[in-house]
Amino acid sequence: MDADAIIRNGHFITMGSATPSVTAIAIRDGKILAIGGDKVISECASSRSRIVDLQGSTVLPGLIDVHTHAMEWAEGIVRGQLDVGYPGARSVNDVIAMVRERASRIARGQWIRGAGWDDAKLAEHRYITRKDLDAVSPENPVYLEHVSGHLAVVNSAALKLATITRDTPDPQGGVIERDASGEPTGILKDTAFPPVAALLPPDPPDIAFRAAKLISERAIALGLTTIHDIYISPAEMRGYQNAYQEGFLKLRVQMSPRIGSIEDAEKLAGMGVHTGFGDDHLKFGAAKMFADGGMGARTIAIYPPPVAGEVDNFGVLRWKPEDMQKAHQIAAAAGWQLETHAIGDRAIDEVLDSYAAVMKALNLRDPRFRIVHAGISTPAIQKRLSELHVLVDGNPPFVYWIGSWFAKYGLERVRWCYPAKSYIENGIIEAAGSDVPVTPINPWWGIWSAVVRKELISNQVLAPEERLTVLEALRLYTVNGAYVGFEENEKGSLEVGKLADFIIIDRDVLSVPSDQIKDVRVLESYIGGKSVYKMSAVNSADPKIAEGRQKGR
Ligand SMILES: [Zn+2]
Repeated sequence: MDADAIIRNGHFITMGSATPSVTAIAIRDGKILAIGGDKVISECASSRSRIVDLQGSTVLPGLIDVHTHAMEWAEGIVRGQLDVGYPGARSVNDVIAMVRERASRIARGQWIRGAGWDDAKLAEHRYITRKDLDAVSPENPVYLEHVSGHLAVVNSAALKLATITRDTPDPQGGVIERDASGEPTGILKDTAFPPVAALLPPDPPDIAFRAAKLISERAIALGLTTIHDIYISPAEMRGYQNAYQEGFLKLRVQMSPRIGSIEDAEKLAGMGVHTGFGDDHLKFGAAKMFADGGMGARTIAIYPPPVAGEVDNFGVLRWKPEDMQKAHQIAAAAGWQLETHAIGDRAIDEVLDSYAAVMKALNLRDPRFRIVHAGISTPAIQKRLSELHVLVDGNPPFVYWIGSWFAKYGLERVRWCYPAKSYIENGIIEAAGSDVPVTPINPWWGIWSAVVRKELISNQVLAPEERLTVLEALRLYTVNGAYVGFEENEKGSLEVGKLADFIIIDRDVLSVPSDQIKDVRVLESYIGGKSVYKMSAVNSADPKIAEGRQKGR
């Protein structure tokens, strides 16, 4: 059989149904040639085969994260922007101190840019305001994005540059928050902050290339072998492509372009390429749209009752329903899988209406349309997801990292926030996404969170009925991740003929106490049969790699 390599004496959790647990695999040409017991597999060896003895270590298929904003996250690191996220910043004062320090080191008028703050994790439990920032940075415009990505706070100098005053109306799909006297507070929600972001100084031309390298290095060290990078720009796609051509992109990536308007959909359709274009390393994934806002910004589109304490806040819808359907149909007719961000149940219904109409109009058999997040997933919503066979890009780590936001929507809704077990019971396919930089890119946080569903601040278990077994949680990151990406014949489980993407970990994740799941360390990662990462004394102590397990940004 002439294998390139034989990996033996391991504890392989294959995630495949035929041979769930084996001890060895044989690899040839980047794929799995055979799988089974040590003795059988040794027959695949020839004199040139490399033999690796795992000494009993546990092996899993490479993990898949179907929803990241990896470029956005990595560009922030490359750019050196302020990390004002938990746990580095635990109070408004901590954030202010960071801004003061940065302001003291740069020239007057230069921008201060940062991201990652979360009012729910700040001691004061409130938004940062323009006035907080003005006190330490009167001359330098400041722009600090919230961890949710759905709002930003800016100071008075920035508002002035953007010519936002008390007389500026709220844009469609956005909110300029105002105080009792009608003055802007500095908080800009959803479509209200991109015009300010557009004033930020331009990034160096190679930023996306450098970010792609960084993403690949960090992801494979944490056990991810495939990610989907969502809502990325043409410059970011170019960054991935350049990094791939120059040999720096070891990680497999599906790139999801953005559709923010009907014109965007027409442009994308006009390119003549579609979902799946590329190779097994770098390809186009789904086309991404937004239906509503974010929980942290209190802009998700919900049915009554409104957000706690805000009598007429039922959130925002970014599209008129007929426009959304038009954009969906243009992209789907051109061969694009669709994925649409919808967190509130009202937004999810709007998207499902549109998906149903498009599937019918185009007579699509297996389009695998996706709802991104599906945060408030009530029994009524789940019934529709199941009937329409619409997939869910779920976010297991949200329960831990941002579960404190759920209660803003009332306790009845907490029960249906980011469910997982009921998806399995209702035959709905969910795959997992970190949504980095909303939560860390480290997938072990998500697997752990799916199993325990503990919330960070209160330490309470949220909707305990929705907890998964470890094996069920692993499915979200393997088999289901592959299915969502139309890659179930290539990856997601260790089976003959599939890509040899697998990871060796430092403990048996199926038998350790559940609180240890978040502490799993990856000893070695293989992509296409090649070892692409190996833990060493040096990189196990590297705070940059360790950071993946601690920080949101
Ligand atoms: Zn996202």
